[in-house]
Amino acid sequence: MDSFVADRWSAGSKGWEDRLRCPRCASSLRNPGLQPSCSDTTCEYSATGFPLFGTQPVLIDFATSIFDREMYSGGRGSALKRDVTGRSLGSRLHQFVLGTNTVAASNCATFIELLKEGAGRPVVLVIGGGTVGFGADELYDNDSIELVGTDVYASPYTALVTDAHKLPFEDGVFDGVWVQAVLEHVLEPATIVDEIHRVLRRGGLVYAETPFMQQVHERAYDFSRFTQSGHRWLFKRFSEISAGPIGGAGVALVWSIRYFCRALGAGNKLSLLIALPFFWLRFLDRFGRGRGRAMADAASGFFFLGRRSERVIDPHSMTKYYDRQK
Ligand SMILES: [Zn+2]
Repeated sequence: MDSFVADRWSAGSKGWEDRLRCPRCASSLRNPGLQPSCSDTTCEYSATGFPLFGTQPVLIDFATSIFDREMYSGGRGSALKRDVTGRSLGSRLHQFVLGTNTVAASNCATFIELLKEGAGRPVVLVIGGGTVGFGADELYDNDSIELVGTDVYASPYTALVTDAHKLPFEDGVFDGVWVQAVLEHVLEPATIVDEIHRVLRRGGLVYAETPFMQQVHERAYDFSRFTQSGHRWLFKRFSEISAGPIGGAGVALVWSIRYFCRALGAGNKLSLLIALPFFWLRFLDRFGRGRGRAMADAASGFFFLGRRSERVIDPHSMTKYYDRQK
């Protein structure tokens, strides 16, 4: 982790590190690697500066964020504790019962292929990148891509900590943005998508995955769900390359069995064990493929792969969009 972070903030680099800005007032930052603060002396963050989480700057406007400065003070650790490796017994059991993502890996390959159509080494921002998302491994393994990981806590996969409602980057810095299983956990998904649009260069790519038929997870940090049409409208300033369900009604049903038991008092661990014998239900989803709306109407979640556009899609097109779902 240390070497990764040290490389990030090495002197003389010319890249996204030089295009950071204050999340409050958009002025440039002073000394982001050691003692970050805002360069505008009239800004609150000029005097108070931003905390460091280990060696990573925490570039959050605390006045408007759900996260407090105290969460990061004194190197006390993360706001959200995670199994960063995804290899704990609990994580493995969760994956076995509720299933892993079967479309992300091929979508990731398409995302990388499209990124390489541009000139130079593409720079990709990962929002919610404290852990490697399901199927996103190729993004991390590919040396021809520069990945900038961000999350609300620091991990070996992040370069800095931020709240994506106010991304601390200048306009048009990135060639791609990867935001997987994040938009349900934020107060204002549309604000974050506006920020994604802003930090992408013209024609830049976005890949998002967001749940639909999933019960509350991450406890207090869970706020929204989207239908496929709702997800499309969220990315209304993007042209669609592809979109569709992640997990069908079978996955959603296993989730429901687990949460049904939980609602009756089984607790987190026991409810997962009770749902265990029903894991096979998710394999029935393969019979739902090609059934278009019937599958999408009950899907566990949706992905959207799109390109930054300079105009908003026509609201009148949305009913046709639903009718076309496949
Ligand atoms: Zn400022």
